[in-house]
Amino acid sequence: MSMHKTVRTRLAPSPTGELHVGGLAMALKGYAWAKKNDGTFILRIEDTDQTREVTGAVDRIKQILMTFNLQWDEGPDVGGDFGPYIQSERLPLYQKYAQELLANGHAYYCFCTKERLAQVRDEQRAKKLPPMYDGHCRSLSESEVQAKLDNHEPSVIRLKVPKDESLSFTDLLRGTITFETNTVDDQVLLKSDGFPTYHLAVVVDDHTMHISHVFRGEEWISSAPKHVLLYRSFGWELPVFVHFPIFLNPTGKGKMSKRHGTVSVESFLSQGYLPDALLNFLMILGWAPKDDQEVMSLERYINEFNPGDVSSKSVKFDLTKLQWLNGVYIRTLSMDALSERLQPFLPTDFPQDRLVEILPLVSERLVLLSDIEELTNFFYRPIEVDPQQLLKKADAQLVKEQLQQTHAALAEHDSWELAAIETTIRELQERHDWHRGQYFMMLRLAVTGKKATPPLFETISALGTDQTLERLDSAGKML
Ligand code: GLU
Repeated sequence: MSMHKTVRTRLAPSPTGELHVGGLAMALKGYAWAKKNDGTFILRIEDTDQTREVTGAVDRIKQILMTFNLQWDEGPDVGGDFGPYIQSERLPLYQKYAQELLANGHAYYCFCTKERLAQVRDEQRAKKLPPMYDGHCRSLSESEVQAKLDNHEPSVIRLKVPKDESLSFTDLLRGTITFETNTVDDQVLLKSDGFPTYHLAVVVDDHTMHISHVFRGEEWISSAPKHVLLYRSFGWELPVFVHFPIFLNPTGKGKMSKRHGTVSVESFLSQGYLPDALLNFLMILGWAPKDDQEVMSLERYINEFNPGDVSSKSVKFDLTKLQWLNGVYIRTLSMDALSERLQPFLPTDFPQDRLVEILPLVSERLVLLSDIEELTNFFYRPIEVDPQQLLKKADAQLVKEQLQQTHAALAEHDSWELAAIETTIRELQERHDWHRGQYFMMLRLAVTGKKATPPLFETISALGTDQTLERLDSAGKML
């Protein structure tokens, strides 16, 4: 790694939709590596494909980065010495550099029509050849080009890829990668509308913004030869390339994709994953700290992260581990902080005034914030009790008696104290020598309708006198 150079990393999202968790992982790595080296983390919006732009996407990407505390040092809103940081505002720059390539013979004008290009592709497909530009305009003379330009024929500028060369570049994770120039297409660099393609824009920007490390997903590795050729054509030094492996689906099979479930950061947040948990999960996906201590802060990650230590193999997006981490982070929150986090997940009929009482009972079992409804609904919604379940371990006569006795004993309570409730119920059980497991489970089912709930006495205490007595009563009537 070049030690003498300032570390400058960038996240270069295209605003074509929601930020993917892979994009967030890239932001995390770029941010951490910059911070570790007292460098600069840059946000650059790659919006050159205007047909795919989604309104509002830039704002949402920025919002997500801020939610995760991955604040960029240069970029939209904050500015910087190498802006603008939105590609559509840099068009003259790409045009200038495209002209430079034309002038030194590394690029050429192409006037081929869509129809001609489609025909070439069809012919290649029929011959089972990879679709590539056939170089038709490569050999146009200067005067032919000038005549067409004067005639206002629509044109693009293409990279003049040299023939019969074997070129290499280094990827930090993959080592030396060699490619044959004959397999590289004469890529369009500047489109007829004056917009650059991704390839020209990314190289010009990474160079002019002094990016030292290009972190991106391995899906871009096939584009790297074009970029390497461009760097060479300009006579520019290559940045350190790191193509990180893509994530596999939670099943471990295939690339993580929308078709197989959640991929956008936004949708993980709306399912009730905490930002800290998701970020921690992304830290340890394909990388581990020296002591294998998986729960770690962003600060510690910054200290320990090294891009060269990331596994070059794809790893699965292990939801079980993510959920475990989410539980860990939920349990680090104070009840106040947790209540606040839960607000967007509370159903509208949730009794806010009872939250302080209910929350401590279920917080241990929260995996996702969105579980709150399922874990608490019996406190504030009518329950359904299955009489078969009540009678699972005892006959109707006994269960009826248990319900009536419990009702009678609890009805005598003036105050609804947890300790008193517990004493009453335990005394009843001992006095009648009821089977403890059967009796307690039956009571639980009768007052909640569920087999798994918070501890029985706490639950009864939180339900309150009226609700408890009414449920004991109606359970008895069912039998
Ligand atoms: N604009 C590309 C993207 O959306 C960036 C690829 C790169 O980092 O070079 O992922």
